[in-house]
Amino acid sequence: MELRIANLVAKPGEKVTGTIAVPGTSVKLPVTLINGKNDGKTVLITAGIHNAEYSGIETAIQLAGEIEPDQISGGLMIIHLVNVSGFEKRTMSVVPEDGKNLNRIFPGNPDGTEGDKICHFLVTAFFSQADFYIDLHAGDGYESLTPYVYYLGAATPEVAEQAKAMAQKVDVPYMVQSDIATGGAYNYAGSCGIPSILIERGGEARWSEAEVSLYKADVKNVLRHLTVLEGTVKANENKPVDISDVVYENAAFTGCWYPRKKSGEMFKKGEEVGVIKDYFGKQRQTCIAKYDGVILYQVSSLAILKDGPMIAYGKISN
Ligand SMILES: [Zn+2]
Repeated sequence: MELRIANLVAKPGEKVTGTIAVPGTSVKLPVTLINGKNDGKTVLITAGIHNAEYSGIETAIQLAGEIEPDQISGGLMIIHLVNVSGFEKRTMSVVPEDGKNLNRIFPGNPDGTEGDKICHFLVTAFFSQADFYIDLHAGDGYESLTPYVYYLGAATPEVAEQAKAMAQKVDVPYMVQSDIATGGAYNYAGSCGIPSILIERGGEARWSEAEVSLYKADVKNVLRHLTVLEGTVKANENKPVDISDVVYENAAFTGCWYPRKKSGEMFKKGEEVGVIKDYFGKQRQTCIAKYDGVILYQVSSLAILKDGPMIAYGKISN
């Protein structure tokens, strides 16, 4: 079967690359379509919904170059970079034209602002053809994280179970079930009946070949599990452990942030995990752990912004 998104068409056995214009915007999405000789499922891979999360973007670029149609049954649709203008303006996670975070506004709106239109186009042009979805993220430019994977919770039990099985093929220590149905790209895809995961690997506006190679191995293993990519599924070194009761704590003050722990480090209930001070060194906020747990991600820049992210941590289930 032909794989077609707007102007881009891949016949069976073909790989095509090119840009696809998002209607009503100046955005041109860099896309690769890989159509296998044999029939199978169609998987959507996106990166750069958050434009400063470079390890995901470089992973998408390299996967698009490496995977060939003769290794595929079914199809792959890879969007190398979604927030192109954000990347080119080097923003942190927002579309420069409207200041919106794409991963908060799905399913978007064709009559809205630039970001709304991008989300709406992803839903109508790509989600509509996807059987499965893998979204590649990292910590933002000012965030460090420990590698982990989100899978769907707010979906039918069958879709949620398939998403969890995908997450278990990712070689990271932790996984988190999300109970959100809209806003995020993979969350909304879940409510459309598409088993979806979001992988977090890397951060702090950096990337390395070593990290990208681990990231590619993760995606390929999920694709093998879905029988879209040839080869046997590899057993993970890490079997991701479920993290529950995740606390996403925002900063109460703008100022300087002093984390007491590293991302991925464990802590005890009542421990101080970080403090905010003003520009004179006076303590303004103390962040105290609500339970024994592990830090998933946290701000790693000295600058911290009121009502913006500070730390996210969760409970390790046994
Ligand atoms: Zn992200």
